[in-house]
Amino acid sequence: MEFPVRTEALVVESAGAAFEMTPIVIDELRPDEVLVEMKYSGFCHTDILVQQGVLPGLELPAIPGHEGAGIVRAIGSQVKDKTLRVGDAVLLSFTVCGQCAPCGEQRLTKCVVHPVVNFRATRLGTDNTTSARLARDGRPVRSQFFGQSSFARLSAVHEVCVVKCPYPDDLAVYAPLGCGYQTGAGTVLNVLKPRTYDSIVIFGMGCVGSAALMAAAHLQVRQIVAVDVVERKLALAMELGATDTVNPAGNTAGLAEQIRALTGGGASFCVDTTGVPAVIEQMLDCLAHGGTAASIGAPPGGARIQVDVAAFLYQNKNWVSIIEGDSFPPKFIPELMELHRQGRFPIDKICKVYPIEDLDRAIADMKSGEVIKPVLQFS
Ligand SMILES: [Zn+2]
Ligand SMILES: [Zn+2]
Repeated sequence: MEFPVRTEALVVESAGAAFEMTPIVIDELRPDEVLVEMKYSGFCHTDILVQQGVLPGLELPAIPGHEGAGIVRAIGSQVKDKTLRVGDAVLLSFTVCGQCAPCGEQRLTKCVVHPVVNFRATRLGTDNTTSARLARDGRPVRSQFFGQSSFARLSAVHEVCVVKCPYPDDLAVYAPLGCGYQTGAGTVLNVLKPRTYDSIVIFGMGCVGSAALMAAAHLQVRQIVAVDVVERKLALAMELGATDTVNPAGNTAGLAEQIRALTGGGASFCVDTTGVPAVIEQMLDCLAHGGTAASIGAPPGGARIQVDVAAFLYQNKNWVSIIEGDSFPPKFIPELMELHRQGRFPIDKICKVYPIEDLDRAIADMKSGEVIKPVLQFS
């Protein structure tokens, strides 16, 4: 492929501005980068935070999108995976610094600057450049959001983000594996590992919570409680394997008591995908003796909670944070694809494909709870 390449992307020009299809230019492909022609991208709540201009470290203009799926169009000269070929179907996941001790040990979600490098949306290393610029005035546009900025027709992504997909016909269903699905499923399969006789309570039945639920159902956990304020989502949760549902209808006080009663004294495991401080307090209060709660949803900046410290200690409770399901994407994403093909991770039931021109409708459907996971299609 000849550079510079002209293409277009959904750009957010300034905080609060609309996602606008905008001509961009990619000048070069660095030796450690892969050029991907995007076919699909999942739409995630974090992309709305880009549009609102509230993500720390992310300067605008920027191209959001971090659940990309597409076809390799060019490969940098020093890309380490020598099996990668032009024409391969790939899924894109998060990036890392590649320099710190956890990165050296392939504990990628433990990268000490994980949010910094993923939110900043510039190239790795010290030059802090972007891989694209606006065609109309040459200004740089942040174009490696989560290493990929997948709301672009073409994107130069760092090789660490790239996971080969042996099933090109299923790229639409698999696109969100790179963020939302692996975050929910990895929390259950990689970290919490509930046993069949345990109980697990999942707060928030969006994409991440639904993936956590599917993973718990796959493990045949005895009691799986889905919590949400949208009845439609709770009905879907029952279809996906929940044994009980709770709708606090916006009033979280008393939620812990209700769940303790439902679980016979408290839950072995809890997962919060909402990031709402009042929900996290209830989550810690409804744990059984020795139980573990996981926070995996983004809270508002500076949020604090109140904890009954004595109960926390004497009941030997645990509270952990988990990023991206603690997954090593090159290994975990293929495992999830195989689970899906065996019918044990039915993610096709929660996604809906929209032409990228219908982004506004996709966002509205996600907000109303009509659709759990919108996937945008490039035509
Ligand atoms: Zn996401
Ligand atoms: Zn690192």
